[in-house]
Amino acid sequence: MKVLVVEDELRLGQFLRQGLSEHAHTVTWVQSCREANDALVETKYDLIVLDLSLPDGDGIDLVREWRASGFNEPVLILSARDSLEDRIKGLDVGADDYLPKPFSLEELLAHMRALLRRQSVLKQTVLERNGIKLDLLGHTVHVNGGPVDLTGREYALLEIFMQNGGRVLTRTLISEKIWSSHYEVDTNLLDVYMSRLRAKLEGALGKPVFKTVRGIGYQLL
Ligand code: CA
Repeated sequence: MKVLVVEDELRLGQFLRQGLSEHAHTVTWVQSCREANDALVETKYDLIVLDLSLPDGDGIDLVREWRASGFNEPVLILSARDSLEDRIKGLDVGADDYLPKPFSLEELLAHMRALLRRQSVLKQTVLERNGIKLDLLGHTVHVNGGPVDLTGREYALLEIFMQNGGRVLTRTLISEKIWSSHYEVDTNLLDVYMSRLRAKLEGALGKPVFKTVRGIGYQLL
């Protein structure tokens, strides 16, 4: 799985990168809050392993910001601060687990396995964002509580945005997911679908739903 390791202590970072890679995980290692934010905006991870004391901020604030902006990746906090109060604070802002330092690689791997098991049990079937509710099982969409009728393609488009929190999605990525192809899709077609979806949702919501990022793609607000 894809793991983002946020740890500024060099020896520990190297140990995590090597240890997790040897267990067949793909590891991206960053050393600051800023780099962690950049990495997270760029791509989706299966798990984030997060140190609390970082050179440019606090891991707890980072988790709080992520949760507020819709990033729902599981977060495992690693920290020498193992007081009960810190542990509770971390879990309260939305971290999923806590492992006090020092720990062994085996312990970390066991925590990761437990987290993933829990994730797959709790896998969300209803996605919600800013008044828009998408039911993955029922294939229905509600805006401010009222049903909105979407075509299959419009629904698929909206689902990609809802699954990706507030990320800016590139045209290429959207096209590949919707048309499951890697050849150049007529991007005008994408714009047509986007404007229809936008009109339906904004009509029901009464405010902007998407932001167009010129030359790049779209962002669900
Ligand atoms: Ca640190």
